[in-house]
Amino acid sequence: MIPFNKPFLTGKETEYIQDAVASGKISGNGKYTKLCHSFFESRYGFKKCLLTTSCTDALEMAAILIDIQEGDEVILPSYTFVSTANAFVLRGAKLVFVDSESNHPNMDVQTIEALITPRTKVIVPVHYAGDACNMEAIMQLASKYNVYVVEDAAQAINNTCTFSDGSKRYLGGIGHLSAFSFHETKNIISGEGGMLVINDERFVQRAEIIWEKGTNRSQFFRGEVDKYGWVDIGSSFLPSEIIAAFLYAQLENLEVIQEKRKALWNAYYHAFQKQNTHHLLLPETPAYSENNAHMFYVVCSSLETRAAIIAALKKQNVLAVFHYLSLHKSPYYVAKHDKRELPHTDRFSDCLLRLPLYYELRLEDIDNIVSIINA
Ligand SMILES: *Cc1c(COP(=O)(O)O)cnc(C)c1O
Repeated sequence: MIPFNKPFLTGKETEYIQDAVASGKISGNGKYTKLCHSFFESRYGFKKCLLTTSCTDALEMAAILIDIQEGDEVILPSYTFVSTANAFVLRGAKLVFVDSESNHPNMDVQTIEALITPRTKVIVPVHYAGDACNMEAIMQLASKYNVYVVEDAAQAINNTCTFSDGSKRYLGGIGHLSAFSFHETKNIISGEGGMLVINDERFVQRAEIIWEKGTNRSQFFRGEVDKYGWVDIGSSFLPSEIIAAFLYAQLENLEVIQEKRKALWNAYYHAFQKQNTHHLLLPETPAYSENNAHMFYVVCSSLETRAAIIAALKKQNVLAVFHYLSLHKSPYYVAKHDKRELPHTDRFSDCLLRLPLYYELRLEDIDNIVSIINA
């Protein structure tokens, strides 16, 4: 049986968890949390990182930080996970969905400007499959119209976007704020887990307060204030040291994990290039993006073809999955959507198929999967 995903353990996770437990401090913001923060800040140059209990939580923190008010408009793709939208809807925002590009699930940046109004507060690019959105164009729009950019970088760890001056910038380090996920289906995991990245200095102090339930506890522990109390809204966004210890073991092995995933991704790509009897479209990484091998997907010619392929794989004990159901057609939002058609989003929703990709998948498994699909 080949599952869709299998969480990979590097071997040190339980050792570090035991160390955290033995230290007598297992609530949040201790040794392992700080090790994880430093890892990200030094490796990627992110200004300030805060681990969260999920990417969903990091997105909710971002919506609080940019002070989303009732009726503010949020520009985001329809082809994304529900949390990208929910975080802003929780604060009363109105969603303005952008269609995907014709050849990539990422939102079509060309169509964003026409959707900006005086109520637009933020653009939320989602780097689907870890592939960069056109961040240079998005940041230009944001500065022209004075709106924020919050990157949903849930899938985008260790990946870059190249700007026209040739510079490469890490995804998650470009928008004012960004959110990463360490859910067990992502490249680097902690079961559930996430991180808020604060690239805009103005948000750093308030982010720590929101993170610590609306208190200035972080400042207190640094000795900056002599007592701590309730100073703002917030919630319990920080994970325990147990989660951070698990995550740190993964981070120490990031290179190894990424190399393996890229080898598997390339094996799929070459196997399909050699033989592709169903006119499946292969993923096209945009020219300005590197590939972080978060996901291998194909785009089928129809919903029927996709269903037939999933059934054939299942018969041979291979689990392949699809997602997302477009948010503009979701039961919760369909009546609130402004009625614009989003044809490319609908096509990816009907035709995109995700294939198994995890550290322990073997190259011969990939040959098998591709043969089953072709047969
Ligand atoms: C996984 C994912 C999320 C949610 O991450 P959690 O850590 O499970 O909250 C949000 N957005 C995108 C694009 C994702 O892929």
